[in-house]
Amino acid sequence: MSRRIVAAGNWKMNKTPAEARELIAELTPLVKSDEKDVIFCVPAIDIVPALEAADGTNIKIGAQNMYFEESGAYTGEISPQMLTDVGVEYVILGHSERRGYFHETNEDINRKALKAFEHGITPIICCGESLEQREQGITIDWIRQQIKVAFQNVSAEDASKAIVAYEPIWAIGTGKTATTEQAQEVCGAIRALIKELYGDSVAEEIRILYGGSVNAKTAPDLFAQPDIDGGLVGGASLKAEFGDIVKA
Ligand code: PEP
Repeated sequence: MSRRIVAAGNWKMNKTPAEARELIAELTPLVKSDEKDVIFCVPAIDIVPALEAADGTNIKIGAQNMYFEESGAYTGEISPQMLTDVGVEYVILGHSERRGYFHETNEDINRKALKAFEHGITPIICCGESLEQREQGITIDWIRQQIKVAFQNVSAEDASKAIVAYEPIWAIGTGKTATTEQAQEVCGAIRALIKELYGDSVAEEIRILYGGSVNAKTAPDLFAQPDIDGGLVGGASLKAEFGDIVKA
């Protein structure tokens, strides 16, 4: 079966609501595609204006984080219902910046993923190793552990709808992209693990992205790899260049 390619942008903590509207208006003609899923994951306060600006286009709006409780005394957090109420279908979970700066653990990410599935939100589950771990030769073991815990108690049906993003920490925002071989090796290992956990058909259906300084130049080779189904793009998703990445 052929998997639908995903071009997801992670805006991180960039763009005010007014700027979000402007950027979406600018990028809309550049990211038009019938065969690919184009997703902009925007800051929480930009979600509603972004949804309005993207109305009638092929752009889907995603969140960058979500809490694993339904509601209550969790100051500063956003619940799954708040996202679905406005029409959000995707959420990035476990980005390395959230793991690093905000101490999110694999267990937190698992709880969030289960909650997202419960509400029909597709999680984009991030994993990735540090430069030190790569140099120690433990990349694959580390990624397997991250994914195993993130998918604990996730049903096969839900797992087949998930999106996983392999993002080596040393490649994020550094201008240093992993080689196509490095990216394919890890994305292939993630698919092999999903096959061990869930069998052939889930492994065939789940979409696995590469992220880490993807740009218009590196995207074509990366996305041509057998186990890479698109990209999660940070810096370049805020520019017209994202249109060329979508085309790749
Ligand atoms: C990211 O933050 O998900 C990312 C891949 O960033 P960048 O493309 O800027 O490296």
